[in-house]
Amino acid sequence: MLSVSDAEGIIFNLVQPLNSQQDTELVDLLFAGESLAALRADRILASEVTSQLDFPHWDNSAMDGYAVRYEDVQDCSDQKPAVLEIVEEIPAGVQPKSTIQSGQAARIFTGAVMPAGADTVVMQEKTRREENRVIIFTAPKLQEFVRKRGMYYRAGTQLVPAGIPLKASEIAVLTAVQCTQLKVFRRPRVAIFSTGDELVTPDKPLQPGQIVDSNQYALFTLIRHSGAEPIMLGIVKDKPEALKEAIAYAIAHADVVISSGGVSVGYYDYVEQILESLGGEIHVRAVATKPGKPLTVATFKNDPRPILYFGLPGNPVAALVTFWRFVQPAIKKLSGLAHGWEPVFIKAVTRQELCSGGKRETYVWGQLYVKNGVYEFQPAGGLQNSGNLINLAQTNGLAVLPVGTTLIPAGEEVQVLQVGS
Ligand code: AMP
Ligand code: MG
Repeated sequence: MLSVSDAEGIIFNLVQPLNSQQDTELVDLLFAGESLAALRADRILASEVTSQLDFPHWDNSAMDGYAVRYEDVQDCSDQKPAVLEIVEEIPAGVQPKSTIQSGQAARIFTGAVMPAGADTVVMQEKTRREENRVIIFTAPKLQEFVRKRGMYYRAGTQLVPAGIPLKASEIAVLTAVQCTQLKVFRRPRVAIFSTGDELVTPDKPLQPGQIVDSNQYALFTLIRHSGAEPIMLGIVKDKPEALKEAIAYAIAHADVVISSGGVSVGYYDYVEQILESLGGEIHVRAVATKPGKPLTVATFKNDPRPILYFGLPGNPVAALVTFWRFVQPAIKKLSGLAHGWEPVFIKAVTRQELCSGGKRETYVWGQLYVKNGVYEFQPAGGLQNSGNLINLAQTNGLAVLPVGTTLIPAGEEVQVLQVGS
């Protein structure tokens, strides 16, 4: 049985990210009809975007005021104000007509293009207007309130690197530079199926001995929220032929395959044998976690990158815990994210005592929240049992009790793995 850190090292090393040349698609930036989908935050940029233009595109005013020649106003004061003739009014979006000569000024507004000849803007609060003249009482600094062309960035500057998820801030930048088509990574395809003769879909009346296949729906949601495209293959019977057929189909159609159930040591547990008969190489058979010990990880040779197979435990909480701890970071890494795919642990104060057998790394599920600026953790009430998924609702954190720790008293600090969608 592997330790969590050994298993994590093996799994994350097996992942080769999507290829930034082949595994991409072009999406529209524009807010129009279906292309709105392109603006979903979790698309990941496959190639860097550099600016085609200087920004600002031209010298413009950062204030409402008067565009002047610095030399005309540099010595002015309350006692010796400068008096300038207003030769033009320049609203934003208009090309100025005049060239400002000595003794002249232009009325100008925020964002408007600076007229030729002027190099400085005096804010209107520092002036008094008298018909077509402006009286200036305070000397500005040279080039004050002028946003010079290219002062924020020049054509050719990198604006957004590859591997970055496109959130509102990136979209704002890309829109400003008119980058209307974006090359993003395609979404990884993740096939999922459940194994077990006792499983039924949630719409069927339950016969004695049957239970609902909740794992497949939970995994479907998690995969979508991880930025991937789930392919639901349904419930597969505990029969070697049926399992073999499902796995063969899945590895032919997906980048990642996730099954749940059938990996514990039991009579009907065929999955590992079948993986090997299909040419799979098994890297992980069990990990010292609670819940979640029976985790199988295998790869199938495939060009340009191997297909990853995750056989999760059937118990509903164990399936989710192993997904959050190992599978979700792997999918995020695969999807082309340059950073931020790793699991995130947050130090929090536990509101209640946390217990563990001490032999395996134990995850206690519950709620992580901020109170008075400090992270706190409240374990889910009721039984913490890998078969009891009812108290999973609203879980957004897994408190971690390392091997050898049997108790963390209330009020003490604990590392909490951030989980959820
Ligand atoms: P297994 O890993 O197949 O031995 O299953 C362990 C436990 O999890 C059993 O009680 C199964 O009935 C239950 N189980 C297996 N698969 C699912 C599933 N897809 N949804 C909900 N419970 C499941
Ligand atoms: Mg089973």
